[in-house]
Amino acid sequence: MHSSTLPAQNLGRRAHLRYGHGVIEFGLTGGIGSGKSTVAELLAARGAVLIDADAIVREVQAAGSPVLVLMAEALGAGIVLPDGTLDRAEVARIVFSDPAKLASLNAIVHPAVIDEMTRRRTVHNDTDATVLLDIPLLVESGYENLGAVIVVDIDPELAVSRLVQHRGFSADDVRARMKRQASREDRLARADFVIQNGGDLAALESRVDECWAWMCGQPRPEPGGPVVPIRSRGAN
Ligand code: ATP
Repeated sequence: MHSSTLPAQNLGRRAHLRYGHGVIEFGLTGGIGSGKSTVAELLAARGAVLIDADAIVREVQAAGSPVLVLMAEALGAGIVLPDGTLDRAEVARIVFSDPAKLASLNAIVHPAVIDEMTRRRTVHNDTDATVLLDIPLLVESGYENLGAVIVVDIDPELAVSRLVQHRGFSADDVRARMKRQASREDRLARADFVIQNGGDLAALESRVDECWAWMCGQPRPEPGGPVVPIRSRGAN
């Protein structure tokens, strides 16, 4: 796909957000190495309250947690390292070739992550916070009932080269991970606002400024309503 065919501007769909409380919420996603974390930090610096799904996943899977116990029952005690922490590489190896085990894993982890996300969202209920839910696998996990979705978009080969250059990945590893993620097109199809990250960091900052202005311009739901539950395929 040529970049000229990609939507570079706010796509303008789903004009209103579906939350019934005063806080306004946005989902943020993007492929591996697209620049999600960089964008999340830039939006947080502009005032967004960041809720980081990956960090929550790590927390709910901490040593001794109920989630880790359930995971060990479903996937085998071999996923727990001698120090009691999770062996993420072993989990990845097990579920890579076993869709049933992947479904079991999702059915354990997603509800716990969503509960914790809801707890953190509820804290901001009745405030005028602008909450940013950073969910790398938003499209893949079938998250529903999120507010407007911001997608960080990048040519996959540029993502490969940035991860190889800055983060020490091997190109083959990045490409293998990309194959297991949603396609660029599927992700863009969920986007209400696209942040292209094919340029330098100055260009990204300026696009983030536009995004923040767009976020601030979205109509806020009436305060006082309930927190609308987020759902995902693994949790339902
Ligand atoms: P992951 O999927 O691994 O969590 P990510 O989508 O969160 O990655 P980042 O970690 O934000 O992506 O960015 C990937 C790498 O590219 C980082 O080293 C980051 O500093 C760098 N990077 C991000 N945007 C740019 C840019 N516009 N110019 C140059 N480097 C960039």
